[in-house]
Amino acid sequence: MITSVLLSSIPNVVHGFGTGAELVPAVLLPVWESRPQKKQVHGTTAVRIAESRQRAGEADAFHTQQREIAVSVITADCVPLLLARRDGGHVAAVHAGWRGLADGIIPRVLAQLEAGDEWVAAIGPTICAACYEVSEVLALDFARRFPGIPAADLLPSHRHLNLRAIADYQLRKAGVTAIDHAGGCTCCARDASGNPVFRSYRRGDRNSQQHAGLYIVG
Ligand SMILES: [Zn+2]
Repeated sequence: MITSVLLSSIPNVVHGFGTGAELVPAVLLPVWESRPQKKQVHGTTAVRIAESRQRAGEADAFHTQQREIAVSVITADCVPLLLARRDGGHVAAVHAGWRGLADGIIPRVLAQLEAGDEWVAAIGPTICAACYEVSEVLALDFARRFPGIPAADLLPSHRHLNLRAIADYQLRKAGVTAIDHAGGCTCCARDASGNPVFRSYRRGDRNSQQHAGLYIVG
């Protein structure tokens, strides 16, 4: 399990980013059954969760002010973004791949949360730019959409897109400046034995992905 030092400093909030060896972070297990019933679709819908096992439908961001209810997302290269208000009273989990980043799921959920500098954010294990080659068309589209991100950050090398840089930029633009980058690249990170640490869609993992989530302790 991967954790964020920044999120760990928030009172009454428990969080974790899963790995290939621990797909569901063990710290979430006590409330795991409470998580919303959902289907992630690389969209921009954010759902307020008010009850255990809520039917959230097709959505990619979930937030709650209820205690003992986990909000989580599944990823295998996309950005898993966990957010908490500094007082520990409101938490959110966001799944953002290239499509969600381009379409603005992060600004959308931040607007719904009325988030600003009273919130902290942790971006978990995400495919790195070196591993993430995209089409020429997509690379040009991102350069056009995000003129505010230095080219060296957005596309560090030709057609290699940096998803983390986009998430970071969108958070800062909304006033969330306390941002932790936790975990490495889902595609190329290796453990001491040389085995992959995470599940990666790009590397070929199609059927199992890691979960990232958090909850407010009751
Ligand atoms: Zn990589």
